[in-house]
Amino acid sequence: MREYVSGLFLILDSRKYTDDLAFIGISPFEGQQTIVVKGGNRETSTRGKALDIGNAIKAKLYKRHHYYLTESEIVESFSFLKSDLTTIVLFQILLAVLKQTYFLAERQFFFSLYNSLLDINISKDVERAQLGIFLLIMKVLNFYDILEFPITCQICGNTIYQGNFDFLGFYCEKHKANNGSEFSLFTNTTRIDFLKTVLKDLLNVTVTFNPVIATLSLDQTQED
Ligand SMILES: [Zn+2]
Repeated sequence: MREYVSGLFLILDSRKYTDDLAFIGISPFEGQQTIVVKGGNRETSTRGKALDIGNAIKAKLYKRHHYYLTESEIVESFSFLKSDLTTIVLFQILLAVLKQTYFLAERQFFFSLYNSLLDINISKDVERAQLGIFLLIMKVLNFYDILEFPITCQICGNTIYQGNFDFLGFYCEKHKANNGSEFSLFTNTTRIDFLKTVLKDLLNVTVTFNPVIATLSLDQTQED
């Protein structure tokens, strides 16, 4: 017997096969799922088109050995978040972090994140979008106890936005560790550098910068 499921999914990643397409999506009720779109990679397929990374879709699925997509419609494509290079990189990092962390359905957490993304997208304010997505990434890392935010110095406990860190934790300018990696959260460039280092060290995730908007994709070291 087929079991049908329908609901909202945020698309984190997708993979193409000869004829088929599989995407990884997260939902408030289903957690993280891999969903197969039979024939989704065919030239003639219209269903495959809605499944760009970073889109939110309303999907109807049935479950057999996997989830299979029967219908989908785009609810939100977050086009503003995909219109500026720095914002795209931050958005990619957020999706990569969610792919590594969001396995169980966390309704409240999902909607708080999703509604923030909607607000940021609607604001059409680049600076607000960049800072907002950065803070969302920190919120996810904080929620899963991967990284505490705001960051505090190991020695004095002060909140810090720059300093350095090693495998034991973070240090302010005054208590710097000898062989720590420097970090600063004051500019987008240094925020992105910081996130890349932290994600590599803590989650073994490598986010590669892909400036092509139409083929927004995530390359990660962990293939499955
Ligand atoms: Zn200190």
